[in-house]
Amino acid sequence: NLNTSFGAQELCRPLLAEIDRLAARSAPTGPIRLMEVCGTHTVAIFRHGIRSLLPPQVQLLSGPGCPVCVTPAGHIDLCVQAAKQDGVVVATFGDLIRVPGSHGSLADARARGEAQVEMVYSPMDALALARRRPELQVVFPAIGFETTAPAIAATVLAAQAAAVENFSIIPLAKTMPAVLVELLKDRDLNLSGLLCPGHVSAITGTAMYEALVQEYGLCCAVTGFEPADLLAGILSLLQQQATGQPQVANCYPRVVDEAGNPRARNLLERVFEPVDSEWRGLGSIPASGLGLRPAYRHFNAVHRLGLEARILPEPPGCRCGQILKGRLQPPDCPLYGRVCTPLAPVGPCMVSSEGSCAAWYRYSGHT
Ligand code: SF4
Repeated sequence: NLNTSFGAQELCRPLLAEIDRLAARSAPTGPIRLMEVCGTHTVAIFRHGIRSLLPPQVQLLSGPGCPVCVTPAGHIDLCVQAAKQDGVVVATFGDLIRVPGSHGSLADARARGEAQVEMVYSPMDALALARRRPELQVVFPAIGFETTAPAIAATVLAAQAAAVENFSIIPLAKTMPAVLVELLKDRDLNLSGLLCPGHVSAITGTAMYEALVQEYGLCCAVTGFEPADLLAGILSLLQQQATGQPQVANCYPRVVDEAGNPRARNLLERVFEPVDSEWRGLGSIPASGLGLRPAYRHFNAVHRLGLEARILPEPPGCRCGQILKGRLQPPDCPLYGRVCTPLAPVGPCMVSSEGSCAAWYRYSGHT
């Protein structure tokens, strides 16, 4: 029942009591480290104060689930290069405009009068802009996970059908499973369980996490974004750990099922193919990105505009890479809250509304 209040105390109290009981039982073996790999989960966990409700044995880590945060500075540079070309406008989401590349952000370049940048709310808005302004080349940076990529695929198909020649994308979208495997190779992470992303899973289905259970013995729980959803996911992970029976538990069945959304997946498969992709802090991960299939490569702005990507180190002092891998928490960064704030962000984790540093800052009494 979607009208149920999933934040109701009568739902949450029993879940918390059971979490306390299981955590106390497993306490002698050390902290129980659970990771959420969805930026929306990160924000929901902070907004609902979930961390403060959990027993001290349960540690929550944030993973590489914010699409803007995992985009390396060199890829932001591609967007800035495009926006600086004569007759080109980059149409993108608001948070991407402020993410620093190696020589500043799209917002910086626009403020200096060097670049044309428009904020849009969807890729279809960018296509509409292209149709309204045929004298401009409109470039949409395709940044996101399986959640946003189907809308980008649908936009490419619409542009193809309408023969819109002044629209293109910078294909930078990423997919979830390969990066999770990459994280699990790091034994020091010592992860007990994964809160799997609810939105991504609505598209992909739950089956893609089975390999994590089979090959790495990882406890997995797909969960939603309300307090009771999050607590049910955490409880499921503790139960799996206590019984020694890892599995993929679906704690978000009102939205997610095993097969996912076949129409959205079909759109992805028609337009995109797996390609190696560069992740901030994690390097290049095979088959973790979405490149355009040959039939749609003329929509690739990188080729059309002759853009060149250079992968560069993090801004000096920024620990975004370590935070995205769950090795550090935002306050461990020497710049956090002093040099780096939401008003003057140094790294993308402080820019994006779903970034760990921004969420930590916003909900830790700074503002
Ligand atoms: Fe990077 Fe700022 Fe986060 Fe430090 S606080 S890791 S500089 S975004």
